[in-house]
Amino acid sequence: MKATESTNHYFRKAVDLLGIDEHVALRLITPYREIKVECPLLRDDGTPATFTGFRVQHDNSRGPMKGGIRYHHEVDPDEVNALAALMTWKTAVVNLPYGGAKGGINCSPSKLSQGELERVTRVFIERIHDLIGPHIDIPAPDMGTNSVVMGWIVDEFAKYNGWSPGVVTGKPLELGGSLGRDAATGRGLLYAMQAHFAALGRKVGDFTYAIQGFGNVGSWVARLIHESGGRVVAVSDVDGAVSNPSGLDIADLYAYSRKTGSVVGFPEADALAGEDLIAQKVDVLIPAALGGVFTASTAPRVKAQFVVEGANNPTDPQADAVFAANKITVFPDIFANAGGVTVSYFEWVQNLQNYYWDEDRVDNELHRTMVKAYADLSAAAKEFGCDFRTAAFVVAVRRVHQATKLRGL
Ligand code: NAD
Repeated sequence: MKATESTNHYFRKAVDLLGIDEHVALRLITPYREIKVECPLLRDDGTPATFTGFRVQHDNSRGPMKGGIRYHHEVDPDEVNALAALMTWKTAVVNLPYGGAKGGINCSPSKLSQGELERVTRVFIERIHDLIGPHIDIPAPDMGTNSVVMGWIVDEFAKYNGWSPGVVTGKPLELGGSLGRDAATGRGLLYAMQAHFAALGRKVGDFTYAIQGFGNVGSWVARLIHESGGRVVAVSDVDGAVSNPSGLDIADLYAYSRKTGSVVGFPEADALAGEDLIAQKVDVLIPAALGGVFTASTAPRVKAQFVVEGANNPTDPQADAVFAANKITVFPDIFANAGGVTVSYFEWVQNLQNYYWDEDRVDNELHRTMVKAYADLSAAAKEFGCDFRTAAFVVAVRRVHQATKLRGL
């Protein structure tokens, strides 16, 4: 299923539940602006190369548009469109004053030198600098980009517009980044689980966990679960997986994976095939790697009681139907992994005010945001008798619809 079909499926469900007029629905789902630019580059050896850069600005009815920039060889307009729309719904679920956008360059960052990456980034920004900005569209890191790339964007944008660190988030601290951003998505996942488990009279420490992906999101949520007394029994990365039924020592695993480049071979665990991670007998399964993990054929393998979506778009609608039939509760991506964009918002607020917060303040504000979003989701799930994903879309689409109406059709 194409990425846009999958995200539009839930949008349509929310539109039906809310009784939104078809003309307005079309307006809500159609991107505000789609940008495609040529990014020519001279390679280090002097040969020319050309890449294509995309930015889809989906909706700005609730504020400037917000979303990452991805460098990956599979970046294509369909995926960028779907992820841009997801950002509109994600910022609305957690009630940030933003719309949604997403961008990327169709390239393999691992095959480019640091100098080549810098040059291609600068060309991309030179070509879109008048269409982004702190009050228009605020990019951030995504797959294949990081704080270093954000630093180049700040610098390139400043050449045309003066010093404006609020043009991107996920920056190095020295250029106006926020404390707590690195851990934010993992911490947001923890707060989402805490809120739901508390509603069930349980806590994070009562459960066992399997985590797919041990990068930024996977490794942070693993460390935070471990600190909260939860037992992480299996972890995977692109090279394979490891398990230990008595619980992995996450601090040791983190140190090992940072030293060797992978979790594979960790001495205090058994080896596991990467594709079997999702079939582990655990209470909570956290996809924190790729999209498209759960389909009609893989979802029946899941034995967990809860699926908490750290990754974007890991579950397609057929897989959701399997989860519903098997009474598996899904914490949808647009809520569960919104901690990252929430702390990006805090970074932007700090940049605009030129006043910087300590890490406790960042974590406390994140906690407040996730708890409120959980309460809004639970209320919508009750009101419409629906699952959390449908509820999240209902909350988001209702907010974007209201703002669009108030700004005048
Ligand atoms: P990352 O690049 O830091 O880590 C990705 C991890 O996934 C790595 O450990 C990699 O080895 C692993 N991986 C890749 N292919 C795999 C496979 N086939 N099987 C198992 N593991 C595999 O990326 P990240 O920032 O942690 O992002 C992970 C996911 O979370 C992505 O879907 C991203 O869009 C989403 N997300 C990230 C943030 C954020 O703040 N970083 C925010 C919201 C959503």
